[in-house]
Amino acid sequence: MKIAVIGTGYVGLVSGTCFAAWGHQVVCVDKDAQKIAGLKQAILPIYEPGLDELVEENMKAGRLGFTCNLAEALKGAAVVLIAVGTPARAGHGDADLSFVYMAARELAPHLEKGAVVTVKSTVPVGTGDVVEKIIGSIRPAGTFSVASNPEFLREGVAIRDFLEPDRVVIGVEDQRARKALMELYGPPLESRGTPIVVTRRRTSELIKYAANAFLATKITFINELADLCEEVGSDVGELALGMGLDKRIGSSFLNAGPGYGGSCFPKDTLALLRTAQDHGVALRLVEETVTANEARKRRMALKVMDALDGDVEGATIAVLGLTFKPDTDDMRDAPSVPLIETLQRFGANIRAYDPIGTENASRILSDVEFCHDAYECVRDADAVVVVTEWDSIRRLDLGRVKRAMRQAVLVDLRNAFSRGAAEELGFRVSAIGRPASARQETRGKYGLQAGDPRSHAGLGGGDNQAKGGRLE
Ligand code: NAD
Repeated sequence: MKIAVIGTGYVGLVSGTCFAAWGHQVVCVDKDAQKIAGLKQAILPIYEPGLDELVEENMKAGRLGFTCNLAEALKGAAVVLIAVGTPARAGHGDADLSFVYMAARELAPHLEKGAVVTVKSTVPVGTGDVVEKIIGSIRPAGTFSVASNPEFLREGVAIRDFLEPDRVVIGVEDQRARKALMELYGPPLESRGTPIVVTRRRTSELIKYAANAFLATKITFINELADLCEEVGSDVGELALGMGLDKRIGSSFLNAGPGYGGSCFPKDTLALLRTAQDHGVALRLVEETVTANEARKRRMALKVMDALDGDVEGATIAVLGLTFKPDTDDMRDAPSVPLIETLQRFGANIRAYDPIGTENASRILSDVEFCHDAYECVRDADAVVVVTEWDSIRRLDLGRVKRAMRQAVLVDLRNAFSRGAAEELGFRVSAIGRPASARQETRGKYGLQAGDPRSHAGLGGGDNQAKGGRLE
């Protein structure tokens, strides 16, 4: 099947490449001439494990091409996927749909008769109706279809998520769209028995937001429980393990941390709230999730300050990991940004290291000394803060880290290290959802005083949390 993908960002590029890997004939189009020039030479604009090989392989096989020319891309295409960005509108929270509408206007004149325009971008309910109107103002009704096909891939494991999805959701209003999308996904997924959920367009659009809001809520739930664990002397890794093995709950998205970030959850929860508001519906759980997550991200700087006796003025703080999660270079809404900016406001000097994300981070953060090596980053630091649990960061030699530092203070916002091992080396450790160590209790957590009944050192600290509390 010949398809065109408009927008070659994280979603467009991964989707287009994977469709080609399934044997479809794919042309990816983008307005960014530099991106396309790079892609034509198999130089990728993003970091996604395994993607470069897959792009190259499919280009060589003649199934995948790149262009800035929309007319050329749409020639003969039975399905046209819109995968452009839908960021939150600054100061509003609702999704900025201008890129989607622009793409619809631009593609309309070049659309093949009978083509199915499929919105893969995450868009609020009713966007498909507007896209249909826009195209319908240029092309006769009935000569095209508009469908919804939200994408659920996760950066870092995007290829696997795309090729082996839990389910595919398609939202259609006519048989033509249904048939085309079943042809697109059906044969490659048939042998896997992957469910293809076919709904009306508006339901499909809402499914994506509902799924993301639910996951954001699950993360926020475990984060709040982590706070309670710290107060009562429980261990959130073990708690999550004990909860998550219940099949009704599931263990994913139960890793406590500094708050969710990234290109999807923050903007999608806000956009969902805006849709609900516009329709007079209260989504209180989602509202609370958004508020709690924002507050949490800001509070993480206080956790670092607490670990340094409440004062970071003039201190050198080494931040390990900047991207919003490992295995991506995406810095959108990364928790590292408010953390660093807050510490800077309190007078800290920041050194930072990320295996892949430094270039993107340097466009957002100022007055940060970016290091090419984690050990160089921690040299003479007063505290090291783990913000993103890249494997290479988890594998650091803590003894060597300690020897390089001025003060052995470890603030582990991802529970990436074994607390026991770090303490044995002489680190003062502040982790997430693990009770404060004996040494720290006398120093206070957000003002916690020695002798406070919340101190129950030794009850927790289960070291299975080096992998986020999973069974090993
Ligand atoms: P992105 O910002 O990385 O990429 C968007 C691309 O579209 C850019 O390269 C841009 O140049 C291009 N573009 C914009 N307007 C264009 C036009 N008129 N013609 C041609 N190209 C155009 O975005 P992304 O992260 O890939 O996200 C795309 C959509 O998918 C969003 O709605 C997002 O919410 C959703 N989504 C993202 C993820 C993710 O993990 N990033 C996962 C699921 C869904």
